[in-house]
Amino acid sequence: MIIVLKPNATKEQIEHVMEKTKKMGLEPWLSEGVERSIIAVKGEEDALRALPLEAFPGVERVVPILKPYKLASLDYKGEPSEIDIGRGVTIGGKKVVVMAGPCSVENREMILNTAEAVKKAGALVLRGGAFKPRTSPYSFQGLGEEGLKYLAEAGEKTGLLVITELMDVRNIEMFEKYVDIIQIGARNMQNFDLLKEVGKVRKPVVLKRGIANTIKEFLMSAEYILAGGNPDVILCERGIRTFEDFTRFTLDINAIPAIKSVSHLPIIVDPSHGTGRWGMVSAVSLAAIAAGADGLLVEVHPNPEDALSDGDQSLLPETFEDLMRKAARVAEAVGREV
Ligand code: PEP
Ligand code: MN
Repeated sequence: MIIVLKPNATKEQIEHVMEKTKKMGLEPWLSEGVERSIIAVKGEEDALRALPLEAFPGVERVVPILKPYKLASLDYKGEPSEIDIGRGVTIGGKKVVVMAGPCSVENREMILNTAEAVKKAGALVLRGGAFKPRTSPYSFQGLGEEGLKYLAEAGEKTGLLVITELMDVRNIEMFEKYVDIIQIGARNMQNFDLLKEVGKVRKPVVLKRGIANTIKEFLMSAEYILAGGNPDVILCERGIRTFEDFTRFTLDINAIPAIKSVSHLPIIVDPSHGTGRWGMVSAVSLAAIAAGADGLLVEVHPNPEDALSDGDQSLLPETFEDLMRKAARVAEAVGREV
């Protein structure tokens, strides 16, 4: 950590900062410049992070050298992680893993039909919400446990793995029974109690980026799950809020190479929530693969006109099939496969 001192910092103020860091078992080293001086501090940065150094008179700024996340960092692991999600499927390797299905599980027949359709097109994982985080309490809230049962049945019938969103710590046992991958939604990215609990679970977790969160905050949330003991965390970029209102959210394509440069965790992209418009989903999916995404999470509905949630951004099965064909070609161009 580097402590940048104010140009007019007095000798006493500088000594006070040096003493304080020494008391914490760290080694401060003063470098006196012409215009201003700095103190380089050697030792456990975490200890120093707890100290509100910018509150000390004479201190202008503190520049951390290490990242606040450790287990999620690329330095910690040394290479990208490949995460086993079951049935011989891994995320983070050569294969771009496509997860597809409706926003919500609406009834048994529709999830069974959609599962067949996305399987035929080449998806490996079936998505579908049974507990829905809706903005309005009057909107469809999901089928609950009944929805999880239908998802599990669809997974068994098709051989697809199943992913669905967990919102409440009280439902963890139920999820362990029915699902292969637990999704933590954007609205819960900083629900730290929920993150701690899924840290104890022995299932892979897809952690979606919060709608107003930075990449650093995103990785700190992943750190919670990793620190809890669950190493199988997959990140999902799903768009953030910006001033742009043409689309529902602004998909941050930068996040893919940015995260890959600092973290070993795989990152997938949700082009459905990221755009909010079905007509843009294919283009953005292909861009995500070209940018290095390890997978996609796409909403597909057999009849979007009648969807109980997110019909506007859902692909028809035939459009999804077309996307899968194009995705295979883009993946090949960047040394991957779908
Ligand atoms: C979803 O995937 O169904 C969902 C609600 O997504 P998000 O949490 O990204 O809004
Ligand atoms: Mn949705």
